[in-house]
Amino acid sequence: MSHSKPSLISRPIRARIDLAALRHNYLVARRHAGAARAFAVVKADAYGHGLLRTVRALRDLADGFALLDLADAVALRDAGITQPIVLLEGIFATGDVAVCAEYGLRPAIHCAEQIAMLRAAPPGVRLAVGLKVNSGMNRLGFRPAVVPAVLAELRTLPAVESVLLMSHFADADGPRGVDEQYRRLAPLIADFAGEVSLANSAALLRHAHTVHDWVRPGLVLYGGSPFADESAESLGLLPVMTLGSRIIAVQEVAAGERVGYGGLFTATQPTRVGVVACGYGDGYPRHAPGGTPILVDGRRTQTIGRVSMDMLACDLSELPGAGVGSPVTLFGEGLSADEVAAAAGTLSYEMFCALTKRVPVIETGGD
Ligand SMILES: *Cc1c(COP(=O)(O)O)cnc(C)c1O
Repeated sequence: MSHSKPSLISRPIRARIDLAALRHNYLVARRHAGAARAFAVVKADAYGHGLLRTVRALRDLADGFALLDLADAVALRDAGITQPIVLLEGIFATGDVAVCAEYGLRPAIHCAEQIAMLRAAPPGVRLAVGLKVNSGMNRLGFRPAVVPAVLAELRTLPAVESVLLMSHFADADGPRGVDEQYRRLAPLIADFAGEVSLANSAALLRHAHTVHDWVRPGLVLYGGSPFADESAESLGLLPVMTLGSRIIAVQEVAAGERVGYGGLFTATQPTRVGVVACGYGDGYPRHAPGGTPILVDGRRTQTIGRVSMDMLACDLSELPGAGVGSPVTLFGEGLSADEVAAAAGTLSYEMFCALTKRVPVIETGGD
């Protein structure tokens, strides 16, 4: 027997991904969706949670998946995923059409250039597509007035087997809501014979009338709240990603001394400063100001000074038992990502996606 090798990943930062929480959150979304089916939105490497691990955790649960990259969609098929897969930005080149047909992928068609790609497809190629309606977000899609003509055109194309009518809400989480956009969509939906997909997380949770055949929850799957005024916990969601690390140094700082780059924090009294092995190089937001909540030994305290690439500081003055080696939670279980994101002037969406590849990931709650 040889001696086991020492672990080379001893820097204590870890992202824990709770796959049981992910499945729980999918079921919460499904419960809101009623009889509708739900595409699990897994774009951006499943919002930073890892595409394949996320999809494997949902493979027996999810009605379908939605993402952006053709290569990712093909990887899902190679991993044995048989459910519908929607490409939210559709195709980018004529050659993509045949790949979509071969792998049974459903591209959203949002512009005339993409219709030309469908028209140029080789004979025999047939695929289900989405038709993206620009109902007011003014990002992707055809304006409602031209949708009947576009639909008619799509139906003349041999490459098009069926059409899913799609649109996306700009303000489902805010006070403006969905009414203006939905008013433009309603007559199109009334006249449309096929399936319809409108709702993202916020619309699914707050605007039940937008739930049609398919919904497209993203953030809620990962345990984030789409709403500034309602917590993930109160929505029945569980945190999936927990970013944890440890205290690696302690500094006893005298009144008048400064901490960190730029000396943004000046101690007004003797302060016990804990240095955490986590910085923006790990994905923690650099703009998180001093005072951002953080857990040390499971107890709430706050960050101090400017976040640097590899480290940040926190106040241990009220935690005399904490020291080098004490566990730290940056966000996740026990400290909501939404709250930390709000303190940093960002969203949990961005914080999840920001996790960098140098952070080792631990999966829990798997089968
Ligand atoms: C990202 C995205 C979603 C999911 O949005 P969430 O707010 O994360 O639920 C749904 N539909 C489209 C078109 C998207 O781009």
